[in-house]
Amino acid sequence: MKNYSIWVLEYSRVVDYHKSGVVYGAHNEGYIRLPYSYVVIKGNGHNIMVDVGYNHKEYGKVLGERFNVVDWQSPSVVLKEVGLTPEDIDTVIITHAHFDHFGNVEDFPNATFYMQEKELSKFIWAMSLPHQFQFLMSGVDPSDLLRGVQLAKEGRMKLLDGDVEEFLPGIDIFAAFDTHTYGSQFVRVKQGGSEEDSWVLAGDNAYQFENIEGKNQDGVLLPVGLATGSQTEMIFSLDKMLKLVGRDSKRVIPIHEQGITERFPSRTSDKDLFIVEVDLADGEVSKVQK
Ligand SMILES: [Zn+2]
Repeated sequence: MKNYSIWVLEYSRVVDYHKSGVVYGAHNEGYIRLPYSYVVIKGNGHNIMVDVGYNHKEYGKVLGERFNVVDWQSPSVVLKEVGLTPEDIDTVIITHAHFDHFGNVEDFPNATFYMQEKELSKFIWAMSLPHQFQFLMSGVDPSDLLRGVQLAKEGRMKLLDGDVEEFLPGIDIFAAFDTHTYGSQFVRVKQGGSEEDSWVLAGDNAYQFENIEGKNQDGVLLPVGLATGSQTEMIFSLDKMLKLVGRDSKRVIPIHEQGITERFPSRTSDKDLFIVEVDLADGEVSKVQK
């Protein structure tokens, strides 16, 4: 029995991202297509998102242009492909504070947000440091941090301290401290409560299959190329993800990986963005097959 449907929805992309940003130390290996996506998990009476993308205006637009992001579409356009509106979303798990994951909380008026306390507080600390430390703010929009604090004031941002097993029935959250960011987290969905039939939504500790499966699938874990934490912590968090899905690497989903469109049923919208159907709950209608 499957309780949850899981879709990865592309909402924009970088067409020429340097490979060394994806795999630590991959210098002079050229450029790759890097989709920007978020995840919808639907089931047990909830419409959940893992990350919210960014809003292509103000400093979000500045960052988007700095990273050469193209073909951006709003959540109302993107979610329509799976029959939802932003207002339908009740729960949002933020994997980390980078603008392309945390930069659009304002488009989800009915959601409660969950992120690690360490992620928000350490980036506020990084923001307070003098100019020479501003590398630590790479990919972070200070206004997103302020919006996070405002949501906390309104009771709509719940800050977590470490792992939360059974966050919702069959859904676990795992902290990955000092990895890609200070307080990254990732999500496991256990279909029907089963360990074997689980999925991990990796956040950015895995950008692509190569991080999880190794170069030419040789099984050597590879840390991502952008981090405020350590390569050691990243590699151990990748190993933990694999353990949580019975070491079946195909069950760890990296949302910046174009190849997921071939691993899972998928289609392309009329905006040229992909919809990937990782799994379907019992009784749910496919959103990718006619
Ligand atoms: Zn990131």
